[in-house]
Amino acid sequence: MYIEDQLGEIRAAIRAAEARAGRPAGSVALLAVSKTFPVSDIMHAYDDGQRLFGENRLQEAIEKMPQMPQDCEWHLIGPLQRNKVRKALERGFALIEAVDSVKLAEAISRIAGELGVVARVLLEVNVDGEESKHGFTPEGLQAAWDALVALPHMEIAGLMCIPAPTETPEGARPAFACLRGLAEALRARGPLPLPELSMGMSHDYAVAVEEGATIVRVGSAIFGKRNYTS
Ligand SMILES: *Cc1c(COP(=O)(O)O)cnc(C)c1O
Repeated sequence: MYIEDQLGEIRAAIRAAEARAGRPAGSVALLAVSKTFPVSDIMHAYDDGQRLFGENRLQEAIEKMPQMPQDCEWHLIGPLQRNKVRKALERGFALIEAVDSVKLAEAISRIAGELGVVARVLLEVNVDGEESKHGFTPEGLQAAWDALVALPHMEIAGLMCIPAPTETPEGARPAFACLRGLAEALRARGPLPLPELSMGMSHDYAVAVEEGATIVRVGSAIFGKRNYTS
């Protein structure tokens, strides 16, 4: 089966990259990005032992999550609109990966407080400074840090980035190194341990592992080419 074969190859490539980087085996979680793919495909991955899945659109995630076994863990990896925060938090994502502004963070903390939960999130960083992109600039994140850390019902578990596409996997290395460096600077500043770095996709996840990723978000390399028109 295609999906099982791909998963096997990717797991092996992650192990190899961990070893090259001198990192312990199992330091990196493989997030299977199932957006646009049907539940039947996600079940193939599940049957092969995959439990961690990512969706980038809230509505699609909400439709798929109840159709999968309870022991799956889901990350919301796409942009979240403030008026959808309550819906997202009620769904119980293990991690909301793309918190890209103070306003969104404030809304998450406020609504999590109303629901009596603590929302676990990553902050999205615009590592290559393209104006059109989502996320905090590194300087913007440093400037907003104290306000973000003070939000009572939101736990910042780490950082994520979606760098501009590069021709070769190596091309993404500076962006990944930038995210890692920023996380190191913020750890030094305190008070959070920031254990998670979500970076690397189908094309460049091995380089991301070498640069310190703890979560790689892999879609098409597992499930095949996405068809956005269907
Ligand atoms: C779609 C998506 C991915 C996976 O992309 P592939 O190139 O298919 O691996 C990773 N991260 C985010 C935020 C995505 O939207």
